[in-house]
Order: sequence, then structure tokens, then C-alpha cells
Amino acid sequence: MSPVEVFARLSDPRTPVAGPVVVKTAVVLGGSVAGLLAARALADHAEEVVVLERDDPGPGARPGAPQGAQTHVLLPAGLRQLEPWFPGFTEKAVAAGARPAPARLRSTYSDGVRKIVGSDTDMLSSSRPFLEAQIREHMLALPNVRSVVARVTGLEFSDTAVTAVQYEGGRMEADFVVDAMGRSSRLGDWLRTAGWEQPPMTRMRIDLNYTTAVLRRAGEQPEARAGVSMHSPGDPSGIAAAALCQIEDDQWMVTLSGYLDQRPGSTPEEFVHLCRTALPGEFGAIAANEMLGGITTYRHADSRRRDFHRLRRFPARLVATGDAVASFNPIYGQGMSCAALHASCLSEYLRTGPDLAVPAHAFFALQRSSVFEPEIARRFDEVAYLLTHPATLARPGTLVRSILANRRG
Ligand SMILES: Cc1cc2nc3c(=O)[nH]c(=O)nc-3n(C[C@H](O)[C@H](O)[C@H](O)COP(=O)(O)OP(=O)(O)OC[C@H]3O[C@@H](n4cnc5c(N)ncnc54)[C@H](O)[C@@H]3O)c2cc1C
Repeated sequence: MSPVEVFARLSDPRTPVAGPVVVKTAVVLGGSVAGLLAARALADHAEEVVVLERDDPGPGARPGAPQGAQTHVLLPAGLRQLEPWFPGFTEKAVAAGARPAPARLRSTYSDGVRKIVGSDTDMLSSSRPFLEAQIREHMLALPNVRSVVARVTGLEFSDTAVTAVQYEGGRMEADFVVDAMGRSSRLGDWLRTAGWEQPPMTRMRIDLNYTTAVLRRAGEQPEARAGVSMHSPGDPSGIAAAALCQIEDDQWMVTLSGYLDQRPGSTPEEFVHLCRTALPGEFGAIAANEMLGGITTYRHADSRRRDFHRLRRFPARLVATGDAVASFNPIYGQGMSCAALHASCLSEYLRTGPDLAVPAHAFFALQRSSVFEPEIARRFDEVAYLLTHPATLARPGTLVRSILANRRG
């Protein structure tokens, strides 16, 4: 199957049929978005699924996922993946306070010029902790899944496979393990210490600084549910990208970001000033609202990719998903949707009734192929939103169309 076909298959909108059950106890390390979705996929193929998460779930950003205080947008691909996993997800999330953001209510600006609408896709706008709580609620409603607050400290192996998980204060036998501990996962260290190959990690420096404010949404307000303003390098404001979205509890979340030593909007006064003077009118109108709390900052030093698919000496019954595999430049908002695609890869892998006595090379091969004028805008959006494989952009018809469009200016 070509990567394009694999991608299309992973985006199937139908709820997967459960089974076969090939695992007794599956343990997921990390209960953030990737871990929760992996648990959903595993629930169809394991007698019991246990999610080990170091943080107590609660409202707001958690220490283990500090990025939660920053603007997070769930791309159409993520939403499209969530619906089959949890039928009725969108409806329930909206009833609880999330805001639907169809294309006509999203604005995208490039250096101040409003872009035409590309693909007619839906997004869902909310804070990340809210979205995570929604996913968690659906996941815990599954009869064979439970979540335990525990910090994982290591793994145990036989000669060929992972056999148990160690955590502070205990251990748990496991016959399938998913690493969803995010970009700082220590799985590589544990593998190396136990004599296995460690996945090579590539880092790409980004040095991206986020500043975020939450504002009350009251009275007459801009119509946009979500919006983004992209800026070319050298913009005098220092802004690389700005994002706005309506979130639960009648609030706006607005984020400004800048590269290297640019930290646009790091005080409330500067934040409001930049929204009014350096960004499209919607940002200024939103900044006129009452700011709730101060400015929250976040620095993202690098993108990271761990190449599991290259490993030869790797234990069986072990896979990794989400940021533990690929942590992107957050400006493109792809991380949670990619985590959802990884869960679909896991489902696809387990559905084939794989030989669990050998390393999950087939899973990592699947995962690898998933990471990667108006018609052009639509096709481009579908790739950026992780709805189709990037190779579709190299189709001759698309290339000819874009050359002609560029010639026409
Ligand atoms: C500033 C910023 C903005 C972003 N914006 C977007 C966006 O708009 N849209 C989008 O889709 N994505 C966005 N992302 C990416 C997104 O946050 C992640 O891709 C997504 O949360 C999936 O991450 P994950 O579950 O793999 O890892 P994480 O969210 O990092 O979670 C890892 C989990 O593992 C737990 N853990 C770690 N170690 C242990 C241990 N030893 N024992 C037990 N538990 C452990 C942690 O507590 C945590 O819960 C953004 C990221 C950043 C940094």
C-alpha cells in the first residue's frame, strides 16, 4: 500500500469494529492526549488497559503537560479521528462549552492579508485542558480501561519483549506497553540501559516563545471562532504568528509568538498594544475585553523526532505514540491530530492480528507513512490539517495547477 493509501485508510470515518483481543494487560505510559487515545485503540484488542499518568487530573494545565496553558487548536484531522473513536464526541463537547469553528468562522491572515477559505472543514475550539478532560471522560467510560496516578520509572524485559512496568511504589506486569510520555520521554534511556537499541533522536532548533492571555467574552464581539495571523521574518512587531480562539466559559484565548529572542506581548500592556496596532482588527477588538489573570509564557526550544522505524534490536510488545515520537513546531497545531493518527495506526496494527513475539516494525512503518486559486488552497489545507498525505501535493495535476496559478500572479 502506498503512503497516500495508508493515510486515507487511517482517516476512515467509521468506528472500527472491536477485536481481535490479542493482549491481556496493556499499559499506557502517560495519560495526556496521545496516551488517552492509544488507550481507546487498545481497548478493542486488550482484556484490560491501564493508563499510568504522573499527574492528578484536574482543571487547568498540569505540570506534566505545561503547554496546556497555551492556545491549542484541534485540526480537522483530529476531530475527524475523534468522532469514530467516541461517537457523539463533538456534540457532547459543544454541550459542555467547546465552540464549533467551521471554515466560514475561521480567519487566516498572511502578513495582514486575509486568505481565501481553503477546505470546507470543521474545527473545535476550546482550551487544551478542557479537550483532554472530554477525551478522558469518554475513555474512562470504557469498561476495560482504568487510569492510575503513578510516575513510571522503568521497564522490565525478557530476552525478546517488554514484560512489566515499574513505577514509584510498585510494578505491574504488562504484555503490551505504549510510551506516550511526550517529548521528554525517557524510554530511550531505559532501552539503552537494558541493552537494547535507543531510537535516534533528531532535534531541529526552533526557539519559539509563546505568550498567552485569556479574556472575558462579553457584549458585542468579533464573529470569528478561531483565527491565525502569520507574519514573515523581520516583521517589526516581532510576531511570527498570533492566534485567537473562543474557548469554554465565554472566554477568548489569544496567543502571540516570536522566534529567538523575540517575546512579543510578555506584559499585559504590551500584549494589548500589539493586538491593537500590529494585528488584524479582530485581535484589537478582543484585546479590549477584560484580561483574566496575567500573561502565561512558554518556550519551545526544538522540534524532536525519534526514528523508531530504523531500529533493529528493539523489544517486542512495545510501541510509542504522540510527542514521544514526533514533537512538531507548535505553530502549525498538528500535535494532537498526529497523536490521534498514531492511535489509528495502533488500531490498524492490532487489527491485523500481528505476531507479538517480534518487534512492532509494522506499526512503526505505518506510523511513519502517516507523519508526513481555491483548489490548490483546498489541497494544501488538507495536507496541513493532516487529512491527506503530503505526497498528494506532488501529483502532476496539482503541480501544473499551482505553476499556472503562480504565472497568473
Ligand atoms: C506551546 C504549544 C502549543 C501547541 N499547540 C498545539 C495546537 O494548537 N494543536 C495541536 O494539535 N497540538 C499543539 N501542541 C502539541 C500538543 O500539545 C501535543 O502534541 C499533544 O498534547 C500530544 O502530546 P502527548 O500526549 O504525546 O504528550 P504530552 O501532552 O506532553 O503528555 C505526556 C504525558 O506523559 C506524562 N508523563 C511523562 N512522564 C511520565 C512518567 N514518567 N510517568 C507517568 N506519566 C508521565 C505527563 O504528565 C503527560 O501527561 C502544542 C504544543 C506546544 C508546546
